[in-house]
Amino acid sequence: MSVAVLWFRRDLRLADHPALLAALDAADEVVALFVNDPHLQRASGPPRLAFLAGCLAELHDRTGGHLVLRTGDPVPEVADVAREVEADQVFVTADFGPYGTRRDAAVGKALAADGRRLTPVDSPYAVVPGDVTTAAGEPFRVFTPFHRRWKEHGWGLPADEPTEPKWVTGLRSDPVPQGPDLGAITILPPGERAGRDRLVDFAARVADYSRGRDFPAEDATSRLSVYLKYGCLHPRQALDAVKYRKGEGAERFRAELAWRDFYASVLAAFPWSARHAFRPEMAAMKVDTGPDADRRFQAWAEGRTGYPIVDAGMRQLNEEAWVHNRVRMVVASFLVKDLHLDWVRGADHFLDRLQDGDLASNHHGWQWVAGTGTDPAPYFRIFNPTSQGKKFDPEGDYVRRWVPELRHVVGGTVHEPWKLKGGPPRGYPQPIVDHDEERRESLARYNKIREHTTERRPGPGARRSEP
Ligand code: FAD
Repeated sequence: MSVAVLWFRRDLRLADHPALLAALDAADEVVALFVNDPHLQRASGPPRLAFLAGCLAELHDRTGGHLVLRTGDPVPEVADVAREVEADQVFVTADFGPYGTRRDAAVGKALAADGRRLTPVDSPYAVVPGDVTTAAGEPFRVFTPFHRRWKEHGWGLPADEPTEPKWVTGLRSDPVPQGPDLGAITILPPGERAGRDRLVDFAARVADYSRGRDFPAEDATSRLSVYLKYGCLHPRQALDAVKYRKGEGAERFRAELAWRDFYASVLAAFPWSARHAFRPEMAAMKVDTGPDADRRFQAWAEGRTGYPIVDAGMRQLNEEAWVHNRVRMVVASFLVKDLHLDWVRGADHFLDRLQDGDLASNHHGWQWVAGTGTDPAPYFRIFNPTSQGKKFDPEGDYVRRWVPELRHVVGGTVHEPWKLKGGPPRGYPQPIVDHDEERRESLARYNKIREHTTERRPGPGARRSEP
């Protein structure tokens, strides 16, 4: 009887799982393996660890209790399991992140030393990173032409869940991890079933997505990011769920999934871009450090900047481990262009706090806002937190939901509490900086580096794009 190993990582589901189907095809029985890797545990904040623990508990149930959990460095752990069951192959969904690529190379080497093979199948993306390239075979650096090619390339249909897979039983397993106590933080329910329910619910209301997606007080976005992050859902399934839906809503939703693929492709091609400005000339931008900068960072992180839309966003992050996309852009811009702090500092904070924290989407989202990234979002476009609040939260409902000190302030006036009679309500701070002044300061810093370099412009025909 032949045995293969299916090593689960960011693909915590049974439906539409090409690596699982390949393992079942290759052998009579399959070991369902998950390795709790201390390196990844250290890099994940409590919301992600709690979500992961919930996904593993569900997977354990759905494999009839036969999920094999091991704890430690995946290099010896995976090789040990493969040796124990004498498996020729270990199947995985390919990983394209900087750490995952290095880890898989090392695991592949350890298996090969034993005469076994690591077999990557599929990817966590609609289109495998590296498959969509320019005519010259180069990775795209700008979204719009990538998106065009991505649509032409297309993706397959989701595969069915295997009926009665034969899992290897009786292997030693660590217990399913508990996950940390999140206290008052509420996260979305983990797992494949919860992800599928959310997708079904969202697909029925996708028509309104294009209009509603910019208004943080509305529940108009899919909230699928964390399910995609952990592979409780594959983007193929999301694309399939809206494939017969015509109109701008479905089109826009597909485009957002293309942004996810784009950032993964960029990170795969340029792994250094997780920590360094994609546009090298921007690395010279002066950023503030020291005790005063630390105090400003703290006020930002606690949602006490005195700018209501920024504070609402940061408090949503602290309480829900998720922030609406429009508000992610506003709070990130505030950190970089009003507080003059390094985008990497903000990105690392987000990665730690977000339930959907993902190196490619997060760090490139930050780079986009900071004007250091792939797409030509020019540095001199600076979000004004007050006008962003008035435009995208016109009635102030989002701010009132997250900032209790402002709950009694009616309508859109909530965005300028410093203009209220007697100033901001008790307990709510005055703005910690003056936006107009800091905007000028940002532009002055930008002009300094421009003296040495020229702004890179989008290529002919490229329109300015915004995720
Ligand atoms: P929807 O609006 O319903 O979009 C559908 C899906 O498309 C999302 O689930 C996501 O997978 C993808 N998507 C949407 N917008 C983007 C985008 N701009 N870039 C890449 N993919 C996108 N997304 C993450 O998944 N993890 C992160 O850590 C992350 N950090 C971000 C940090 C900043 C500063 C910014 C500006 C954006 C970040 N994003 C991140 C992208 C985006 O904000 C979230 O994907 C989105 O808000 C998740 O909510 P949703 O599932 O309701 O999105």
